[in-house]
Amino acid sequence: MKTANSLMSGLGTTVFEVMSALAREHRSVNLGQGFPDDKGPEPVRKAAADYLMDGHNQYPPMMGLPELRQAVAEHAKRFQGLEVDWQSEVMVTSGATEALADCLFGLIEPGDEVVLIEPLYDSYLPMVRRAGGIPKLVRLEPPHWSLRRAELEAAFSDRTKLILFNTPMNPCSKVFDRAELEFIAALCLKHDAYAVCDEVYEHIIFDGKKHQSIMTLPGMRDRTARIGSAGKSFSLTGWKVGYVTAPPDMMKAIGKTHQFMTFTTPPNLQWGTAAGLRLADGYYAELAGDMQRKRDRLAGALANIGFGVLPAHGTYFVTTDFRPLGFNGTDEDFCRHITVEAGVTAVPVSAFYDSPEQAPRHLARFCFCKHDETLDRAVERLGRHFRQ
Ligand code: PMP
Ligand code: GLN
Repeated sequence: MKTANSLMSGLGTTVFEVMSALAREHRSVNLGQGFPDDKGPEPVRKAAADYLMDGHNQYPPMMGLPELRQAVAEHAKRFQGLEVDWQSEVMVTSGATEALADCLFGLIEPGDEVVLIEPLYDSYLPMVRRAGGIPKLVRLEPPHWSLRRAELEAAFSDRTKLILFNTPMNPCSKVFDRAELEFIAALCLKHDAYAVCDEVYEHIIFDGKKHQSIMTLPGMRDRTARIGSAGKSFSLTGWKVGYVTAPPDMMKAIGKTHQFMTFTTPPNLQWGTAAGLRLADGYYAELAGDMQRKRDRLAGALANIGFGVLPAHGTYFVTTDFRPLGFNGTDEDFCRHITVEAGVTAVPVSAFYDSPEQAPRHLARFCFCKHDETLDRAVERLGRHFRQ
């Protein structure tokens, strides 16, 4: 019998699925996989429900419903000052995951080099490799995760097709500052490379910081694809509605990939997402404020228990160092241990590295996008366990 594709069949199951299954098995409080307890804004769900009952539930246009593509363009103007042509520069996808795959398969030629920043979201590397890209990894080091410029510079060459990065950044909750974005942009311009920027947490950003897309920097408008997700902006992770904005030349290839990857995305969920993107500024401010309050609640309580708590400037996640608790084992051991013995689940940070063996092994990521009672229950269980 012939064998299946070796790269794909050699992959393990994603850490989110593994840890959520373990959490279900042990009935633990699941602060592993990032999904909110909140139901999402009612007007957004209502718009999708109404469309489901009364709308046209057949294939929508391949690039997405015009209403949603217009809403994406308006939202880019409102929050980033970007002038976007919704017809040639916006496409709707089945989640940011599909948008990422479309960009990678649409832009990479086998043998092209692709710069990536570790730790990284788990879909990036397999899809870069499956597209024939050669990853050039640059590492950020805890606890501050600052960008080492000489290393980034050395990762770029004239063979670099693109850099793929994520800000605010999962799992380490870093927000790239303007100087860092300028540095990345200068390298893209110098080496004639694209930037694919995963901005799914653009509205989940704290301490007065404002999200800035690299697409807004001089020279980057024509070489950036920026990706958003209704899952994160409207606390509806199960919807899997994403959107990508890119200049027409890039979009042609990205759209051709989408046409044979999924072709379209459920129209009622697109309709609901359009309503979401048109919510007033107050909605977005409240989302960020709520999440910041939850970050503080969980981070403060974990520090009281004795965890080392790393700074978290955005996303749903706080990274912790469990060594001060006296735990001797890897991050995978730790996350399994607290699931089984304390009834709380987290995710090992080494899962966000190409080679977990060479990754930091002392960090666990906890998700705080939960009801206060859920966070308090988790803290109470961890406190009881570690104070025994
Ligand atoms: N990128 C990052 C950094 C994420 O955390 C997620 C989370 N789910 C995704 C992409 C995928 O988003 P979606 O669920 O819209 O596919
Ligand atoms: N983005 C979410 C996380 O990092 C999970 C996404 C998924 O389960 N694929 O936890």
